[in-house]
Amino acid sequence: MTLFLDVAVVQIQSWLARTPHLRGRRGASRMIREATMAEAVDTMLTKITDKARRNTAYGDIDGVIALELLCDDAVDDVEHHVVRYLREALPAAPLRSTRWEGQDSLDAHAADEPLVTRDWPAPVSEWPASKPCDWCRSWPAGREAMVGAGDDRKQVQLCEDCAKRHSCAGFTSSKTAALTPGVERDLLKRWKAQHGRDITLPDKFPDLALLGKENDNTHLATVYADGNAVGKLNKELRDLRRDGIGTTFDLPSAIENATWSALLAAIEGMSADTDETMPVIAHLVGGDDVLVSIPAHEAWSFARTLQTTFQDALAAELADAGLVELPVPTVSAAIVFHHRSSPLSAAVDLAGELLSHAKEQHRGKRASLAWQDITHDGPHPLHHQVPDQRQAPALDMLVDAWADLDSLAELGASARANLALLASDNDLERLESHAERLGLWGLVQRFLEGPILLKDALGMVRWWRTV
Ligand SMILES: [Zn+2]
Repeated sequence: MTLFLDVAVVQIQSWLARTPHLRGRRGASRMIREATMAEAVDTMLTKITDKARRNTAYGDIDGVIALELLCDDAVDDVEHHVVRYLREALPAAPLRSTRWEGQDSLDAHAADEPLVTRDWPAPVSEWPASKPCDWCRSWPAGREAMVGAGDDRKQVQLCEDCAKRHSCAGFTSSKTAALTPGVERDLLKRWKAQHGRDITLPDKFPDLALLGKENDNTHLATVYADGNAVGKLNKELRDLRRDGIGTTFDLPSAIENATWSALLAAIEGMSADTDETMPVIAHLVGGDDVLVSIPAHEAWSFARTLQTTFQDALAAELADAGLVELPVPTVSAAIVFHHRSSPLSAAVDLAGELLSHAKEQHRGKRASLAWQDITHDGPHPLHHQVPDQRQAPALDMLVDAWADLDSLAELGASARANLALLASDNDLERLESHAERLGLWGLVQRFLEGPILLKDALGMVRWWRTV
């Protein structure tokens, strides 16, 4: 039996969005890549090569250091060494270490629970704090930095974590882009490999919003997606391997390929122009996780394409390997609509909450899609305020209702506002006579029984793409 140790940033999406500025997020994305990429991990291990080596079977996922222990009694030493290293590289990131045991990495990680789990929360600043950091407002400021350009250039006081973000952030559209490793560089590279041409990414949220095709260019959608039942697949694959089947199938890389195929397909399916600038700001793509911001009207169709393509691509990889019997994981997603100037951290935290609620609701058994609109529903999860409110529809139900949602979206804004008013009054008779008069009763009826209720449907199509 071999012991495996993983040390990972937990709630990576919240840590990335800890600063309201995109620049702070970009810097963090680069910090995390540089701290956990293979070369960096190998360098970190040079002092303890007799105790542990990199677990190459785990896959290369941003924010995770996966190791294989060479002698079991060194595990505490190795754990402390890695945590110290990550704490220095990512000062404010909460960390978690897990230990696993098995014949090989797949076998070990197919267990329901790790052998041992330890949390290493981010240090809390001492009270009374000196002046708080201008970016995160939670740690004491200790370093000065110049931010902005031209007339907007100003001096800020930053904490240790934010100062690192600042120095790591490049601008993707500038010539220095080649120097910046991270998810956005990966995205540009993969786009070029597929389309044979260069493209840039927007540098600011307002620029991103302007790339939307619809009339309202003030709103963005932050989309967070994460796989369901990947552990189940892992387990069944492990069992097959014990019988000598599927021994060469590389699950981490199959999942990574499926995730990237899904993301690229979702971007290609956008109605916005992708000739020069991709209408996407990518925050995180790792394993089966995707976190991006896009123009609001693109979100529904984007999420649908992402979810269906992931499943199809992974099914194809499994079929190619002769593993057709295995359960194909799905992806659930959360969409948070927000104004381009509202802080990213609020959208990301809300998306995380919605996503885990959707997964709970469907018990991780099928793809589902949760959503909330910060501008109209507020920043706190609706399902916390009113139980049973706004269920996350399963993807297949959403697809079934798609054409009807299209029809709702085509109604004028005032027709939709009137329907919303009547729907919230719960006065079915008035709703029926009103809808009958307008010849909309057939359409309205479609949303009376659920699973997508009329008032939710009307909220969804506020940001529907009409072609
Ligand atoms: Zn800070």
